[in-house]
Amino acid sequence: MKGDGILYDALVARLREQFAALPADAPVRLGKRTSNLFRTRAASTAPRLDVSGFSGVLAVDVEARTADVLGMTTYEDLVDAVLPYGLMPLVVPQLKTITLGGAISGVGIESSSFRNGTPHESVVEMDILTGDGRVVTCSTSENPDLFYGFPNSYGTLGYALRIRIELEPVSPYVALKHVRCSSTTEAAEVMRKACLGHEAGFVDGTWFSPTEVYVTLGTWSDTAASVSDYTGMDIYYRSIQSRENDTLTVKDYLWRWDTDWFWCSRAFGAQNPRYRRWIPRRYKRSDVYWKLVAFEKKHRWKTRWDLRKGQPPREDVVQDVEVPVDRLAEFMDVFARDVGMEPVWFCPLQQRDPEAVWDLYRFDPGTLYVNIGFWGTVPMKPGQGDNAHNRLIERLVDDLGGRKSLYSTSFYEPEHFWELYNGPAYDVLKKTYDPDGRLLDLYAKTVQNR
Ligand SMILES: Cc1cc2nc3c(=O)[nH]c(=O)nc-3n(C[C@H](O)[C@H](O)[C@H](O)COP(=O)(O)OP(=O)(O)OC[C@H]3O[C@@H](n4cnc5c(N)ncnc54)[C@H](O)[C@@H]3O)c2cc1C
Repeated sequence: MKGDGILYDALVARLREQFAALPADAPVRLGKRTSNLFRTRAASTAPRLDVSGFSGVLAVDVEARTADVLGMTTYEDLVDAVLPYGLMPLVVPQLKTITLGGAISGVGIESSSFRNGTPHESVVEMDILTGDGRVVTCSTSENPDLFYGFPNSYGTLGYALRIRIELEPVSPYVALKHVRCSSTTEAAEVMRKACLGHEAGFVDGTWFSPTEVYVTLGTWSDTAASVSDYTGMDIYYRSIQSRENDTLTVKDYLWRWDTDWFWCSRAFGAQNPRYRRWIPRRYKRSDVYWKLVAFEKKHRWKTRWDLRKGQPPREDVVQDVEVPVDRLAEFMDVFARDVGMEPVWFCPLQQRDPEAVWDLYRFDPGTLYVNIGFWGTVPMKPGQGDNAHNRLIERLVDDLGGRKSLYSTSFYEPEHFWELYNGPAYDVLKKTYDPDGRLLDLYAKTVQNR
């Protein structure tokens, strides 16, 4: 535990001084060691707001099942702090270095999202350093405009410094059943039935091809005859294809996708047994692969090597989108035909509180959605424009009544963007909490990559 309110108050006072001292003619930016944003941001030499002190858990209230958490705390640290009490956050995004503040100001998701919604839906209250330098506490009853407008604001209204979240009890193990389906339509039906009938505590899916799709149902278990370990030679996503039942400790379940960054570690040879056996467990983590991606983005060694060998240039296609469960098969038909990348991750989600209105990222509370995640590269065909696949996906999601997360590249025209992400509500929030525009605006940040 990080300590008490005195320490927190001192951290806040120092941060406010630092904020006031930043140059007023350049946008304020977060100084953080890790990031899970995929869009490339324009280089900037402007000094950054050092928020490194805002990491850690301040308190856990076991009776009330809540935790007070500093905004830049990674889910890895948060889980480590609350699991010993037999508790976990209601939604734990799969990558260890995603922070609570990042998941709330963006839109996080995981296999409990069909019953618990997205991470911001289990926030009780937050302290936010707003663009005008104030620290504003918000909840459903105190400054509710900021509370409901914060998700999907990506740090453009302010930065969450302290967040009180709900927790839920865990059992020691999660028993898994991988249900094989021979089409996306069948998988959508299995997910719908499992989610609406609450047949499991955790539901997600993995698409390997149009005729090989798995829905994984996870249920709490107090006992286990044996448990699997996918942090060594075995690889979790491959196990889905080869076994019907499995059991993991709760911690290994929560981080099952981090070890191989879903399946993305294969691009680095980390799944080849010849190399895998030499990679220490501590390096099989999404943030290590991130560093390799960042290195390649900067130096483009592999890209240049591939081009020299006569291979076509490749387009990064890294996105998470949501469509209503009824439209999942239509999405995947086009995706398989025109993008052609595998595997693909499915994660059902539904808004937790049917009455709530989250202004900048609205869901129909009566609809079960499926988040579709795909992270990789595809070859570009001759004559194909820049980002052709990403643009196609953007249009497709629109056509199917879906929504796209803004952590990666986006191409919307301003007018359309603000229709999708509630420009009028955003304008009011921006004028209230960042009247001098010290923080970037959402369109500038997420589409123009400023
Ligand atoms: C390959 C890939 C797979 C992904 N898979 C998943 C997934 O399965 N589930 C999931 O939930 N998410 C997933 N994400 C998305 C990820 O959750 C978001 O990008 C999230 O916003 C990252 O949070 P971070 O803590 O790493 O923040 P950063 O990357 O550092 O920042 C993200 C944004 O949030 C803002 N921000 C950060 N901290 C705060 C704060 N305290 N207050 C206000 N604003 C803040 C930053 O200004 C920035 O705009 C994935 C991303 C990638 C690239």
